[in-house]
Amino acid sequence: MQVERTRHGPFERLSFAFDTPTGRSQHSVYRLGDTLIDAGGTVASAELLAVLRERPPRRIICTHQHEDHVGNIAAIRRAFGDLPVFVPREHLPIITTTERIPDYRALFWGHPEPSGPVEPYDPGAVFEDSRVALEAVLTPGHTPHHITFVARDGGVAYALTADLYTSRPLEGWFESAADDMVASLRRVAARDPGLVVLPTHGRVKPDGARVLSDMADWIDREAERVRVEAERRGTRDPRTLAAALYADLGPDLADLGSGGEISRAGFVRSILAPNRSLPVDAP
Ligand SMILES: [Zn+2]
Repeated sequence: MQVERTRHGPFERLSFAFDTPTGRSQHSVYRLGDTLIDAGGTVASAELLAVLRERPPRRIICTHQHEDHVGNIAAIRRAFGDLPVFVPREHLPIITTTERIPDYRALFWGHPEPSGPVEPYDPGAVFEDSRVALEAVLTPGHTPHHITFVARDGGVAYALTADLYTSRPLEGWFESAADDMVASLRRVAARDPGLVVLPTHGRVKPDGARVLSDMADWIDREAERVRVEAERRGTRDPRTLAAALYADLGPDLADLGSGGEISRAGFVRSILAPNRSLPVDAP
């Protein structure tokens, strides 16, 4: 496990990475003073706790319900006491119970533990630490009720985008709505032309407003391609359309044990039949 600690204005990023048989697993959590933003996956519990032991957090705020964001809540509480944890209201039942996740996800992020009691928050909530205000902005698309935290410090605007932006946009769309994603990307990009994007996965983006806008444009273009292809072939079947449109990209990740969750068909479905509620079945 590689552990990387970097500073971005008032935020510290703790990134955890290792190789799996089906690709590299990398995710990060952020810290603002005594507040931890997301709790990381249980694959990195020991490494995360070792870093946090220097200065234990006093509060955890989570962006959404997925295992690489909430997995370690229980472990952090066992190590440092029963600190308050805030999660999006609609994700609370999922986070406190954590049903089994598919094996391929457990391999990448570790199976999450039930969190114990947590407190709900709503979009618009503001959390302050170190004289910096973290504002919860509703950014559905990757999953319903997903939150991005925006903050301003020293004249610089930051966005903790969690999984709003993913570097390989055809993956991880099984709970997604492409139109919501485009709107969310544009909403965050519009915050500030100099926005610094601090994502969970992938590199920090000092040119964040442009990166998010480009991603929104790309999805819009692909959505149009998908609609044209659906019309031309007279089908709305996501698998048929994904096979036709993305054949040149090589084998679909659906074949790597994801049971269809991580698939190009999921992306196509997010365009033709956007998902706006939880839980959702794999396509
Ligand atoms: Zn996610």
